[in-house]
Amino acid sequence: MASSTKYIFVTGGVTSSLGKGIVASSLGTLLQARGYRVTIQKFDPYINIDPGTLNPYEHGECYVTDDGAETDLDLGHYERFLNRPTSQANNVTTGRVYQSVIDKERRGDFLGKTVQVIPHITDEIKHRMQLLGQSGDYDIVITEIGGTVGDIEALPYIEAVRQLRWEHEGHCVCIHLTLIPYLRVTGELKTKPTQHSVKTLQENGVQPDILVCRSEYALDASVREKLALFCNVTPNAVIESLDAKSIYEVPMKLHEQDMDAVVLSKLGLSAEIKPDMRDWQDFVDRVMEPKSQVEIGLIGKYVELHDSYKSITESMIHAGARNEVKVNVRWIHSEALSVDNAGESLKGLDAVLVAPGFGSRGFEGKIEAVRIAREQGIPFLGICFGMQAAVIEYSRNVLQLKGANSSEVEPDCAQPVIGLMSEQKQVTNMGGTMRLGACDCVLSEGSRAKEIYGKDSISERHRHRYEFNNAYLEDLASAGMQASGINPQTGLVEIIEVSDHPWFLAVQFHPEYQSTVVNPHPLFVAFVRAAKTYNTTK
Ligand code: GLN
Repeated sequence: MASSTKYIFVTGGVTSSLGKGIVASSLGTLLQARGYRVTIQKFDPYINIDPGTLNPYEHGECYVTDDGAETDLDLGHYERFLNRPTSQANNVTTGRVYQSVIDKERRGDFLGKTVQVIPHITDEIKHRMQLLGQSGDYDIVITEIGGTVGDIEALPYIEAVRQLRWEHEGHCVCIHLTLIPYLRVTGELKTKPTQHSVKTLQENGVQPDILVCRSEYALDASVREKLALFCNVTPNAVIESLDAKSIYEVPMKLHEQDMDAVVLSKLGLSAEIKPDMRDWQDFVDRVMEPKSQVEIGLIGKYVELHDSYKSITESMIHAGARNEVKVNVRWIHSEALSVDNAGESLKGLDAVLVAPGFGSRGFEGKIEAVRIAREQGIPFLGICFGMQAAVIEYSRNVLQLKGANSSEVEPDCAQPVIGLMSEQKQVTNMGGTMRLGACDCVLSEGSRAKEIYGKDSISERHRHRYEFNNAYLEDLASAGMQASGINPQTGLVEIIEVSDHPWFLAVQFHPEYQSTVVNPHPLFVAFVRAAKTYNTTK
């Protein structure tokens, strides 16, 4: 460990889903606002190599980085809060750790030794925990450990943290995020579950330096003292984290309790420069006090679990703040949409967003949603599978190609307007083999896309196997659907738009992965603005 780099570890106790990612991101934001160079990484104890093969119902959205890593959705929070890209190195799973160790074993690198969890697996974890720190690009590396302390699969990670703290005393801080439940019957906040989870950490040799306590009610002095006493932390290191209306309020809530200064002092770093959070606060004010509201329909097949579309809903919050409008999302299950009811289900919406996805379930419903938006002049944004649905709808209902479809859902369709990319034809392994990460796209003169971006060339992130079939490019263009963004290297269509419509645009890439608090994505800003305009004129 380069001694100049400081390490912060964030663990979770009592239950999962307490928001470790938000706390890590909020702390990172404060430290960055004090002038420190910060990155955040996530270590997930599950065995999958990455979340790319996981169903969104399992862990929510799969987030994609510029360099094409399929990662946990918390990396989306890291980027949105810090406004810095993450990479392959920022998300590590047990699967990946074991894969490297087993590869080394097969190469003979261990020279006949017995390969064991300790030291070989823990060494690999420690190596990866320090990789970004050793790059020299960061003063502080925050590592979030997925899962909850006490999980069998998390043990090697906790052991790695124990060893690192021992080897680099004074350069590491451990933050434990925990839940303080409220017992309604007795009207009390209870500290016992936290005491137990801290004990579990201590049994594994890790003493937390700071407790962040999620709670529905404020912690009074006696609760704080009790926690400090029983958990061996200083009273100023007991930080409360009350349920917030917006996740973007959390940095200021932590700062009000001096958490960033406490962390810096425990790391031996200066807290002299105060964080400049004026722009951030301005953004939060806009989120909390919108001047008007719009309702946007999000059409997808995983709508029961809102986390499946995390980056999209966050992008709409960023764009809403920029437009001083609150975006209310109407979650619409694409499986429930049909020719007969789509008009009714979409009634009253100010805009329609057809979401990404895979496979045939609910796909016809997405196509119906596009039809309603197109026919009724409702602002429409299609993303990835949503763009492919838009191309199919236009082909079927405007070009009158009644057999138009994607070969993903109907391999032998009469008009495959969306087909498998040639580079995908030999692919047999599903993990990490899609077209992934950032690619260039050139915008055509006079298009809505170019007007929105205000430049000729852009770079956006991808995650797909199928593509717009260029054999239909000219027919679609003469029928009114233009390709306004093309990949300069491959000729792949990245953006389509319909000019004879108030706002109809769809993209093969995922703009939602690049929207941040500081830089709301231009497409979302323009889309929400179109919703606002439609709301006042409809
Ligand atoms: N299923 C489509 C494809 O693979 C779209 C993927 C997506 O929406 N991310 O091309």
